[in-house]
Amino acid sequence: MTPRPQNNSAVEVVNFGCRVNLVEGEALRRVALAQGRENLVIINSCAVTSEAARQARQAIRRLKREAPEREIIVTGCAAQIDPSSFAKMPEVACVLGNAEKTQAASFAKGQDSRIAVGDIFAHKHADLPSLEGVEDHSRAFLAVQTGCDHRCSFCIIPFGRGVSRSMPQPQLLEAAQRCVDKGFCEIVLTGVDLTSYGKDLPSAPDLGQMVKSLLRSAPSLARLRLSSIDCIEADADLFDAMANEPRLMPHLHLSLQSGDDMILKRMKRRHSRADALRFCEELRRARPDIVFGADLIAGFPTETDAMFENSLALVEDCGLTHLHVFPFSPRPGTPAAKMPQLAPAVVKDRARRLREAGARALRRHLDAQIGRRLTLLTERGGIARAEDFTKVRIKGIAPGRMIEAEIIGHEDELLTAAPSYAPRDGSVQASWLPW
Ligand code: SF4
Repeated sequence: MTPRPQNNSAVEVVNFGCRVNLVEGEALRRVALAQGRENLVIINSCAVTSEAARQARQAIRRLKREAPEREIIVTGCAAQIDPSSFAKMPEVACVLGNAEKTQAASFAKGQDSRIAVGDIFAHKHADLPSLEGVEDHSRAFLAVQTGCDHRCSFCIIPFGRGVSRSMPQPQLLEAAQRCVDKGFCEIVLTGVDLTSYGKDLPSAPDLGQMVKSLLRSAPSLARLRLSSIDCIEADADLFDAMANEPRLMPHLHLSLQSGDDMILKRMKRRHSRADALRFCEELRRARPDIVFGADLIAGFPTETDAMFENSLALVEDCGLTHLHVFPFSPRPGTPAAKMPQLAPAVVKDRARRLREAGARALRRHLDAQIGRRLTLLTERGGIARAEDFTKVRIKGIAPGRMIEAEIIGHEDELLTAAPSYAPRDGSVQASWLPW
């Protein structure tokens, strides 16, 4: 888990974990600057694994060693769940909860409470920052939902984020319009449990309705993308939008976790293997160019060889392309941590086999793109993204540009584009700039 610093010499934010943290990190930086803070580092921690929390502590020690004059505030899910483990660190000036971090007063100069972490379950409003983009990113991330009402047996997140809460639609549509006005071609909707969007709002709009309203209210937005979703909670409007809205990107990342029904039951997931297969099949029929990514856990407690084979086979059976494989690691405080654990070597080997299956599936997908003309959105670092989220190597084009290019090959899990491209803004055909 690579920490992602957001830096202004006065205030540096180091984000761990998910995109909701990334968006909140940007808001924290702005609030702290507005409070006139200087020489401040904010660690926006993650608690998804014990390793994530350990890396936050490691970063705290390193940053204090590098610049002892800087003050360190720790927030995020690891701080919310276990504040004292950070408060007892001499390097740490203050520990803020996930709700407290959204309050400007928490960053007021001279506020001296060492721990300000309240009951996250007491918060019924989303308090999500509606920012027009995150610095250094060519796509605009909009965190529209936070918290989670589920209790998957391996997951500690609800105890860091509280109950599911959604950004009210008027605020969301305004934020989206600001992203468009700022020149973003793509908005990525993100959340902790995105498919729970709207259930807590007065008119209870579902995710699909919100997506349709957003696309209607922003006709000049070229691309709308969803981050990870729970297939069993996908609503009929979302299906319809995916089938009929070309500006909704043909790419869904599914939180599948396993391909075996007994393991899904022990994970307390809400879908079965058959549900996952049906979801992918029906959506592929409605939107043939759709590409699926998925999170899969390898070596969940009690997983037998036969159960693991069901997960392995899911890669082919669902036609998954972009795999995120997580070797199971027990998270203290979760029911799964108390279950009989598999030997680390077995967990490691199963993760390797899943990753290899994912690499084979991705290679097949990349092969199938050769000779096609794709619409790409350029990013930093010589990378562009196709509509189905596949990465393409490009050269010398500023980030945030929409282009069309022919695919001539692939290398290291990236597609290679022909050296000439057509800007999507209708201007003349061009070729790669030499630099
Ligand atoms: S849906 Fe499950 S895995 Fe996802 S945040 Fe909620 S409890 Fe965790």
